[in-house]
Amino acid sequence: MKGTVLYAPGDIRFEDRETPTIEEPTDAVIRMAATCVCGSDLWPYRGLQPTNGPTPMGHEYCGFVEEVGGAVRSVKPGQFVVGSFATSDNVCPHCRYGYPSACAQREFITRAQAPFLRVPLADGTLVATAEAPSGDLIPSLLTTSDVLGTGWFAADAANVKPGATAVVVGDGAVGLLAVLSAKQMGAERIIAMSRHEARQNLAREFGATDIVAARGDEGVERIKELTGGIGADSVLECVGTQESMMQAIRSARPGGFVSYVGVPHGVKLEGAELFFAHVHLHGGPAPVRRYLPHLIDLVLQEKINPGKVFDLSLPLDQVAEGYRAMDERRAIKTLLRP
Ligand SMILES: [Zn+2]
Ligand SMILES: [Zn+2]
Repeated sequence: MKGTVLYAPGDIRFEDRETPTIEEPTDAVIRMAATCVCGSDLWPYRGLQPTNGPTPMGHEYCGFVEEVGGAVRSVKPGQFVVGSFATSDNVCPHCRYGYPSACAQREFITRAQAPFLRVPLADGTLVATAEAPSGDLIPSLLTTSDVLGTGWFAADAANVKPGATAVVVGDGAVGLLAVLSAKQMGAERIIAMSRHEARQNLAREFGATDIVAARGDEGVERIKELTGGIGADSVLECVGTQESMMQAIRSARPGGFVSYVGVPHGVKLEGAELFFAHVHLHGGPAPVRRYLPHLIDLVLQEKINPGKVFDLSLPLDQVAEGYRAMDERRAIKTLLRP
């Protein structure tokens, strides 16, 4: 088969690779229905995160089980499955406390932009649907694998409750689906911080009630104005830069909650400012596996349509163009079909 490999910043190749096989009795191999490019893939693509030589790419996936190892019990060949970008056994203490993305046996999936993928710990990692979903639901099901699961964690970790005022920092696909998630959790007011019209429109469609285009201190000032000088109950940080993190912390009211799901790059927090901010902080790699059954259900019942974040769909062999389009912000998120 061919798969996606990052050779150097800006250099994505779709090239011959070994077709994955069962290596451990707990593995499954799946045939990809669809995969995609993640905002976090852009960090190494832009050279902002070092890589060690040629790096296979992709961690968001859904597809049909092709083969399972001898110890796999919960999924079988032919079933449609979605899994988290982080594998989990679902039985260790971290998993049982609800943090499968901190599983003692965790591995990060890194080869999903390919027609076949080996998934370790298949029983704990994969969730099967009762029947094969119709093709038009595949993009939305794919989002549950990371981007929606991460947006959902952003809303959950920021304690979004019915009636709350939520602020979403970041208008990438995760930020947009954090808006959708906050809406699902009953936020009354959702302020999306975005300066791009297409993204603002999608944010509104997903439930944003206000848009703030200003950033940094000016953005914080706007949030204060919109909340009667108080600050927001919940702030969802979906970028991972110093500016976005400080914007998030300073936009929350004393006693408010700040979640952070953007992979941090160079973020440093100052103790004294944190001390006086009086905010709850909770973030990290999203425990997607915990949310998968519920999110898959919401999609299958067509209560949500998170697949709308894909505004570019390409054949998998054009993956390099998919990265370019996202890097140049011509696309919010690229869907790839084998
Ligand atoms: Zn991702
Ligand atoms: Zn575990």
